[in-house]
Amino acid sequence: MHYVERMRAIRRFTVRPVLPEPIAALGVLAGNLRWSWHPATQDVFAEVSPEAWAATHDPVHVLGSASRERLDALAADDGFRQRLGDAAASLDRYLADDRWYQRQQHDGPRAIAYFSPEFGITAVLPQYSGGLGILAGDHLKAASDLGAPIVGVGLLYRHGYFAQSLSREGWQQEGYPLLDPDELPITALREADGSLATISIGQPGDRDLVARIWVARVGRVPLLMLDTDVEGAPDHHVAVTDRLYGGNSEHRLRQELLLGVGGVRALRAWSRITGAVEPEVYHTNEGHAGFQGIERIRELTASGLSFDAALEVCRASTVFTTHTPVPAGIDRFPRSLIEQYFAEGAATPGVPLDRVLAFGAESYAGGDPGVFNMAVLGFRLAQRANGVSQLHGHVSREMFHGLWPAFDEAEVPITSITNGVHAPTWVAREFQELVAELGADADGDPAAFQAAIEAAPFGRVWELKHALRERLVDDARARLRASWRGRGAADAELGWIDDALDPDVLTIGFARRVPSYKRLTLMLRDPERLKRLLLDPERPVQLVIAGKAHPADDGGKKLIQELVRFADDPEVRHRIVFLPNYDIAMALPLYPGCDVWLNNPLRPYEACGTSGMKAALNGGLNLSILDGWWDEWFDGDNGWAIPSADGVDDADKRDDLEATALYDLIEREIAPRFYDAGADGVPVRWLEMMRHTFVSLAPKVLATRMVRDYVRLLYSPAAASARGLDATAATDLAAWKARIAAGWPGVRVEHVESDGAGDAAEVGAVLSVRAFVALGALSPDDVAVQLVSGRPVGDDEIADPQLAPLDVVETYEGGRYCVAGSIPLDRSGAFGYTVRVVPAGAHLASVAELGLVATA
Ligand SMILES: *Cc1c(COP(=O)(O)O)cnc(C)c1O
Repeated sequence: MHYVERMRAIRRFTVRPVLPEPIAALGVLAGNLRWSWHPATQDVFAEVSPEAWAATHDPVHVLGSASRERLDALAADDGFRQRLGDAAASLDRYLADDRWYQRQQHDGPRAIAYFSPEFGITAVLPQYSGGLGILAGDHLKAASDLGAPIVGVGLLYRHGYFAQSLSREGWQQEGYPLLDPDELPITALREADGSLATISIGQPGDRDLVARIWVARVGRVPLLMLDTDVEGAPDHHVAVTDRLYGGNSEHRLRQELLLGVGGVRALRAWSRITGAVEPEVYHTNEGHAGFQGIERIRELTASGLSFDAALEVCRASTVFTTHTPVPAGIDRFPRSLIEQYFAEGAATPGVPLDRVLAFGAESYAGGDPGVFNMAVLGFRLAQRANGVSQLHGHVSREMFHGLWPAFDEAEVPITSITNGVHAPTWVAREFQELVAELGADADGDPAAFQAAIEAAPFGRVWELKHALRERLVDDARARLRASWRGRGAADAELGWIDDALDPDVLTIGFARRVPSYKRLTLMLRDPERLKRLLLDPERPVQLVIAGKAHPADDGGKKLIQELVRFADDPEVRHRIVFLPNYDIAMALPLYPGCDVWLNNPLRPYEACGTSGMKAALNGGLNLSILDGWWDEWFDGDNGWAIPSADGVDDADKRDDLEATALYDLIEREIAPRFYDAGADGVPVRWLEMMRHTFVSLAPKVLATRMVRDYVRLLYSPAAASARGLDATAATDLAAWKARIAAGWPGVRVEHVESDGAGDAAEVGAVLSVRAFVALGALSPDDVAVQLVSGRPVGDDEIADPQLAPLDVVETYEGGRYCVAGSIPLDRSGAFGYTVRVVPAGAHLASVAELGLVATA
């Protein structure tokens, strides 16, 4: 592994600005990341130093670079003090007011811990690589806006992910600038005596891994970030939090141990020091944080519970979200590494190694016995789990069906909550102001929002969109110039950049990470055809493209190079640009500046995708494969669907078909509509489509909708389950499950009889069913006997089955029962039914939970 060479100062410290008392509130505002979605607070910092603000958008930097004289002048400026006072009062109210969560009748959790390997909150805290991190950041922000009591748990990476630049030849270069925590908007968690709060984790044959805890304030939400760069730590310990998604398997495992096990210990330190209530629910955002469950089982067994009772408590209070159907996106460790790190006395003392190993074992058809799978661990340690769009929920149920093989895919206990985006962060300020002027906001009453959008004059919206396109063009030119200088070009060669891109031309954006399934270069499938689209004399289009390839992914870097080479061509370089170093800072002007947002993944590998939602909220029209969220919410009029050639096995053929469809849509539908303007220059049909996009998508794609869904569908039920499991109930539940599993071989449906519906049943008839079941050592209270009915498909499946209970009508010797019930036949057509027995108990969240079923 290589680390950047660094000249280590023998001692370092940061000179913190001393703010004159009248403007001390600047420090408070800089210390809470709410400024990143609050324009009035941003204006205050811009006033401190317009130049420093324009260059960095970083309040800590702005304050650090302001001169004594400047600060004194501001302290004496009544107008400034007034604006500062308003911003500070707004933050105070924001932090103290009752919000949606406080106004609910529900019995939601008192606190929720949200674990994620990455958090993308603002460009000045670069602790993310892509969608997963941005989503986590938006989740915290929306939770804060709603007053949901979340505490985030993550790591602080000294180099973040990486900074991308290009070589002369267009090959991706990675840089790892060192982040100085003193220059970041975070503070150290300290004990009452002022010493640093730390946690430690036992390591096999090594000293304990020690980490300190940083705290970022995301509005009302604290985010705890663990950092192994502590005084006296050996280099290989300091390296654990060096960078996001870098290093080999062992490095990754150490990071995940720190995030999961260390994260729980950090939460305990946080509560001990600040008095914060302990979380009732633990949400693991993707498999990386799965070890949190093992640490909680350790705690619970240390407090006297049996292992199995502790497991029940852990499961009841844990929510697991899976984020990718791409096999390479799932963490799988060599089993031997887990054996090493969870050996007795290591990370979680007292937790038996064989139980840990069993949690991550791929013990299903096609599984690899040498592997420990973090997604599988996530499902086994969480009673509730979800995917991140309806389609992804479906794909996940198929993908992880092996964990519940006795059940049909539809009953695999993985639900879905579709991702959303944080509008106050992502919607251009001008759009927010326009909507506010019309008396609404995207997060408020949907009907008022719709009315405001419908009242917005087209001419005004079009003018605004032009201004946003101009802003993007300016930003892109500056980035292009910097990139070309880095690639070794002299200024004299760069005159063309002054005319690169055009604020009057139809602008298509494409920016995302560069794993192969996202197909960065699909647009290059027919380079001549793309050129004709770009250079069309009447209806040209321009493309703004960005994205990072993982440092170890040479395939991805080749795709970037291919694209950069195409874009370097003097014939087209004014119409297609690749901008290096896609990050939040670039994304903020990019989405509003685009007319069309392109996404062409290989269906169904895009679990959700969120960039298209951000574009839509800024009046961008989506042009996308029907994958992820777009599969769910495309309605035929709010953008365009690129037909997917899913069924075509030949990958080249599939790419050809989909690329052709993409060119056709741009040429025949998109460009003609965009350029079809009246005498006033306003393309009415385009604006109608924009308006429809706002109205149809705005309420759905919001992160506040997503967080409300999590509260309602997962967090509150998890809290209720957890509250129902005190030590006695948990012990009873564990014993009950063991008894059910032991007795299940004796459970059978022996015989089924029916009447009222022969071969000639008519709609309106009643089907009465009697069944004889053997329960062996189990009692009728342990199970539910169900009549499963519906339309038969294939050999032995019933589509969308209806369930009706069958009740005991007679009891016989030897644990045998007769059960009976009836259902009306209210639909014509083919009909099939069967009878099954499943475990049933108050503490189960799904019939499939134990994986046990006995069918006729
Ligand atoms: C929204 C966003 C992403 C995620 O985009 P996807 O459509 O989910 O691929 C990645 N990076 C940045 C900087 C973003 O803002």
